[in-house]
Amino acid sequence: MRISLLCGITFLVLAAVISCSPSRRTDIPSRGGFQIIPKPQHLVQREGRFTITKQTAMEIEGDYHSVMPSAGFLAETIQNASGIAVTFSNVQGRRAKRVIHLALDDSLVELGIEGYTLTVQPDRIDLKASQPAGLFYAVQTLIQLMPPAVYQPASASNKIKIRIPCVEIKDRPRFGWRGLMLDVSRHFFPPEFIYRFIDFLAMHKLNTFHWHLVDDQGWRIEIKKYPKLTEVGAWRVDREANHWNAREPQKPGEKATCGGFYTQDEIRDIVSYATNRYITIIPEIEMPGHTTAALAAYPEYSCSGGPFSVLPGGVWPITDIFCAGKEETFIFLEDILTEVMDLFPSRFIHIGGDEATKTEWEKCPLCRERIQKEGLKDVEELQSYFIRRIERFLNSHERRLIGWDEILEGGLAPQATVMSWRGTQGGIDAARLGHDVVMSPTSHCYFDYYQGDPDVEPLAIGGYLPLSRVYEFDPVPGELSAEESSFILGGQANLWTEYVSTPEHAEYMLFPRTAALAEAVWTLPDLKDWTDFAGRLEGQLARYKAAGINYAEKCLSPFD
Ligand SMILES: [Zn+2]
Repeated sequence: MRISLLCGITFLVLAAVISCSPSRRTDIPSRGGFQIIPKPQHLVQREGRFTITKQTAMEIEGDYHSVMPSAGFLAETIQNASGIAVTFSNVQGRRAKRVIHLALDDSLVELGIEGYTLTVQPDRIDLKASQPAGLFYAVQTLIQLMPPAVYQPASASNKIKIRIPCVEIKDRPRFGWRGLMLDVSRHFFPPEFIYRFIDFLAMHKLNTFHWHLVDDQGWRIEIKKYPKLTEVGAWRVDREANHWNAREPQKPGEKATCGGFYTQDEIRDIVSYATNRYITIIPEIEMPGHTTAALAAYPEYSCSGGPFSVLPGGVWPITDIFCAGKEETFIFLEDILTEVMDLFPSRFIHIGGDEATKTEWEKCPLCRERIQKEGLKDVEELQSYFIRRIERFLNSHERRLIGWDEILEGGLAPQATVMSWRGTQGGIDAARLGHDVVMSPTSHCYFDYYQGDPDVEPLAIGGYLPLSRVYEFDPVPGELSAEESSFILGGQANLWTEYVSTPEHAEYMLFPRTAALAEAVWTLPDLKDWTDFAGRLEGQLARYKAAGINYAEKCLSPFD
């Protein structure tokens, strides 16, 4: 379901159109009560239902530009599903018979910037929040009170009648970082899927899209100053027929035809689309390791000088690395980050920092000279030097650095935020040092792992992460004190794509595990209950089906 937001004149035109549908069928929410995921903090059922008809009007209260992304999203959802174009009015206008009222309300400030209230009565619906993001989540919850068929594509001809049960909801998320990562380097995913991916996040009330844009197997972001990054770095030889770890490197003279990249214009449009859904995109530019694609384009920033070719599959360990001894390397990376910051308004910029094998640094005279000149102990401290320098650059542009937990080794950069993936220990250590942390341990958050019996599941990288284990995820480890816990910004799941080459397969790996993740990062631990979740999942799966999402159907009968 990709919904293009309505605004300004487009919206007025739409509001003027009264369309009707030749075929309507009645549909009601699935049995089993309210099947809202993630589970709201407070919900009380009331008598009766609200029915959307051609007389239904939408009222806006508060700054137009703050309310419209949510109001437009709701109006378009209703129109796609029912064929009804609701009319809009401001609160001073003539009272309509049935009203959907969206308001920014300062008195709800205690619900935070993402909290909201939602009240459905037979003749009116009220969505309120102190901030626009909260209003957007009120809309998402309201849509989940509608029949699952509202998630069908706009092109569906089978329009439905929308009835909404009366209810009172008060809700806010547990964490401010609710993330999902997509690796587009190991396999390139076209912009159309990136839009769809953003829709998925919005549907699950996730607010952070961590975009893994570069790695050894492909550079996916256009950088104007260094065109070879995409001319060379975005393309590799086609070895898709072979197992990921058994792919011959590029031969001399062989043409690289497999890959792709996003232009800066495409990225701007994607960022804008995400912003209208209150989703922050965090770009990841890997350094100093996981850089073969960049070095294939610009070997002069390596220790050895190359040559390199973009890897068509897995090579381990990878020793290709940016030279930390050359000043030119830092100029190159700062130039790239300047363009990245221009495209992405996110407070955080992810610099990777993981799995950097430093054998080249041990051998390189320039790197050894840097170690000596800076009074560093070893190559681990040289990585810290590297990361600190990049952090200073980002901080000077009012951005914050985040990296995988390897950035702890050799000493953490002063303001750095740590993304803990090798279990939770890195996150625990960082929180105890007073650094912010995002928890993303392989044990609960690696969606490239098998979710069922490997004998029947599509080939995956390994591991085993059934839906129930994702549901158990708690971003705050028990070892942390209350004060230390305050450094945990939230949690995130990651979809690495070595073994995932199509959007359909990506959806299979993501769903319904993303539903379990959503509840793990939104809902308070006391309200979480696996049996209750499994019951509500029925509604969620019906929504996936309506939206045409290729989810894993056997998710509730896991291997163990
Ligand atoms: Zn070097």
